[in-house]
Amino acid sequence: MPKDISRRGFLKGGVSLAAGVAAGMAAGPLVLPGAAQAASGQELCTVLDLGKCIGCEACVDACRAEWQPTVPDPVKPIPQPFPSRVPIEDWSSRKDVQDRLTPYNFLYVEHLELEGKVSELHIPRRCMHCVNPPCTSLCPFGASRQEKNGVVHIDQDICLGGAKCKTVCPWHIPQRQSGVGLYLNLLPTLAGNGVMFKCHRCLPLVSQGKQPRCIEACPQKVQSIGPRQEQVAKAQALAEQAAAADGRPGQWRDYLYGLEENGGTNTLYVSPVPFAKVNAALHELHIQQASQEAPAKAGQGRGQAAKGGKGLGRRLAQAGRPPMGPVANSMENPENLTLALAIAPVAGLAAGLGRLFGGARKLGRALEARRQDADKGGQS
Ligand code: SF4
Ligand code: SF4
Ligand code: SF4
Repeated sequence: MPKDISRRGFLKGGVSLAAGVAAGMAAGPLVLPGAAQAASGQELCTVLDLGKCIGCEACVDACRAEWQPTVPDPVKPIPQPFPSRVPIEDWSSRKDVQDRLTPYNFLYVEHLELEGKVSELHIPRRCMHCVNPPCTSLCPFGASRQEKNGVVHIDQDICLGGAKCKTVCPWHIPQRQSGVGLYLNLLPTLAGNGVMFKCHRCLPLVSQGKQPRCIEACPQKVQSIGPRQEQVAKAQALAEQAAAADGRPGQWRDYLYGLEENGGTNTLYVSPVPFAKVNAALHELHIQQASQEAPAKAGQGRGQAAKGGKGLGRRLAQAGRPPMGPVANSMENPENLTLALAIAPVAGLAAGLGRLFGGARKLGRALEARRQDADKGGQS
C-alpha cells in the first residue's frame, strides 16, 4: 500500500539517522555478556518483543549490508540439474527483494493489519534456530550444523543445494541459489543444484562475543540475546504481561511462540495478541501474495490460488514467508528419527570429503590469485 510504504520509508529514514547518531555516540562495539558466549555451555536464545517493533526494517538493512556480499554470484549459464524437471533457482538478479526470505536476504519483516485494539503488528522473520533442528539431523551431507552455543548454520563449502534442509524444516526457511558452490567442481549436471542459505545468527560475530547485526541496529531494542534459561524466563514474564493487558490473565502461552514449536526453538516471540490470531492474519496475507506472485500454470490459475486451490500448500511452502502456527516436534517422528540414525555416519563421511574438496578449492583460488599477482609484478 503506498500509504504504508511511505510511512515505512519515513520511519526508515528517521531510524537510520537515529541509529547513526547512536552508533557515533557508542563508546565501542556492543559486547555480549560473558555468560552468553559459547563457552558458557548454554545455548544462545533470542527474545523478540513484538509489541515494541515499529516495522522500520533497520534490522533487515543491517543484515543485508553485512551478509549479502558473502553470498556469491552464480556461474552463467547455470548448469541444468538432473533430472531436468528440477528447477534452477536464481535470485542473483533479484538481490533487492526484501519482503521474503531469499538466498540473498536472511531476514524480512511481515507487516500485518489486524482488527481490534492492536491494529498493526510487525514481525521480523528468519531461522528459528531450533533446539533439535531437523535440518541438521537430516542433511545427508553433514553441511547443516549446530554449534554448542545453539546456532544452526549451513557450511557453504560442503552444501550441494539438494534442499533437504528446506523440505524438513517446518517453516521451510533455507533458500537455494543455483550455480554456486561445491557441486560445480563435481558433476554439476548429475548431482547438486547450488547452495542453501539462511540466517546463521551472525556466527562469525557472536563467536567473538559481539551482538548479531540485526539486534545491534534495532532502534526499539525489540530483540535481546542471552543464555537460554534466562531468555525463556524473560519471554514468559513478557507473555504473562501481554496476556494480562489483553484481558486474559494466565493465558500467557497463547502470546508466546517458539517455546514448544518443533520441540522448542532458540527464537522466542512475544506478541500483544494471541498467535492464533497472528497466524490467521498471516495465512490470509500469504494467500493474497501467492495469488499475485504465482505464475499461472495449466489447471492452476491465479483465481484458484486465491481460493486455496490445488498446489497452494506447496506454493506457500516455497514462498519464503513462514507461518506462525503450532508445529509438532519433527524429530519425534519415528520416520525422521530412523532416517537421522541412518544418515549420521554417511553425513560425517560426506562432510569430511566436502571439507577436503572445499579446502582444495580454497587452495586453488589462493594459488591462482598468487599466480595473477606474480604475473602483474612481472609485467610492471
Ligand atoms: S527453523 Fe528450520 S532451518 Fe532453522 S534451525 Fe529450525 S529446522 Fe533448521
Ligand atoms: S542474526 Fe545475523 S544473519 Fe541472522 S538475521 Fe540477524 S543479522 Fe541476519
Ligand atoms: S525489529 Fe527493530 S529494526 Fe527491525 S523492524 Fe522492528 S523496530 Fe525496526
